[in-house]
Amino acid sequence: MPKKQTNPENAIPCLDHGFIRLVDSMGGDDAIVQAARVSYGKGTRKVSQDRGLIRYLLRHRHTTPFEMVEFKFHCKMPIFVARQWVRHRTANINEYSLRYSEARDEFYIPDEKHILFQSKLNKQGRSGEVSADLKKKVQDYFREISDRSYAVYSELNEAGIARELARAVLPVNIYTEWYWKNDLHNILHFLSLRMDPHAQYEIRIYAEAMAKIVKQIAPFAYEAFQDYVVGGMRFSSIEQARLTEQLPDGVINDLLGDTIYSIVATLQRNKPRDEDELFPLYQKNDGQDSEEDFMLKWSAGEIETGNVRELREFKRKLLSLKNGKE
Ligand SMILES: Cc1cc2nc3c(=O)[nH]c(=O)nc-3n(C[C@H](O)[C@H](O)[C@H](O)COP(=O)(O)OP(=O)(O)OC[C@H]3O[C@@H](n4cnc5c(N)ncnc54)[C@H](O)[C@@H]3O)c2cc1C
Repeated sequence: MPKKQTNPENAIPCLDHGFIRLVDSMGGDDAIVQAARVSYGKGTRKVSQDRGLIRYLLRHRHTTPFEMVEFKFHCKMPIFVARQWVRHRTANINEYSLRYSEARDEFYIPDEKHILFQSKLNKQGRSGEVSADLKKKVQDYFREISDRSYAVYSELNEAGIARELARAVLPVNIYTEWYWKNDLHNILHFLSLRMDPHAQYEIRIYAEAMAKIVKQIAPFAYEAFQDYVVGGMRFSSIEQARLTEQLPDGVINDLLGDTIYSIVATLQRNKPRDEDELFPLYQKNDGQDSEEDFMLKWSAGEIETGNVRELREFKRKLLSLKNGKE
């Protein structure tokens, strides 16, 4: 019978016998920028640094440049995890064949911290502490079924029964392996679904490990993904209507005022102007304060700077909330 494996050198261990490792990759942040510049032309080179361009593309869901970056992973996971993983249809997969090779005696036994009750609120989740006795029973059953099924499988194999049939007695906690190749756009989609707290713990572990690798290869793209997808929030029209109705005018106006100051401070940081040009610049960006108030605030201290495009997009959203009130 095939022996239990030791993990390859660059593998990130996942669960009790699994791992994920990068086999190969093509491109990184540079490939995204290179592809984007083909469509936007050289003109953008002056105004946007690579990081800013990548953030802009991700924010505006201009996704094809992200498809220029490719990753090939070698992954080993229980079959029930692979069942969820394989639903991501854009990947190219080549899996270890149990028709051709013998199954290895490697089964997933959940760690006791992850044995919880069925959640009453979330039909696809776990919650509620299980007693030590019941946890032990769960682990014992996992081991018993794994050992028994493997013994039956081995017996059928030794009797010469076709492997493609004998394998059917094995449970879904047995480990399988595959090569999984995909592009960055679809990998980020995979990560957004499978790193999410709603995803099953066992696949989340793999998604988190994959994310570490992606972050190393395309750090700006990963950062933008964290900021706009993982940490971002979208409001439905119903939610926007609630915000519009219930946010006091003062709050929106204060936010809008601060954002305009930030835009001016960022423009000034990026391309310093003479002092007498500042108030006209503030007015050009829809600032409503008097010149005296503007100068007071300007000289009072730190005004937060950021990314001009992003601040302008935020300003537009605030204006649309404000207009919704009128
Ligand atoms: C928390 C969670 C719970 C889930 N529960 C269930 C469940 O109970 N039952 C179940 O069956 N599945 C379930 N799924 C799987 C889910 O429905 C999707 O199949 C899976 O997440 C893959 O998503 P996807 O289709 O967007 O990804 P991919 O297959 O990777 O596709 C990426 C994108 O490509 C496009 N695309 C790919 N193929 C096509 C196509 N043929 N036609 C049109 N557009 C395409 C779509 O825009 C898609 O978003 C669950 C997933 C999650 C994350």
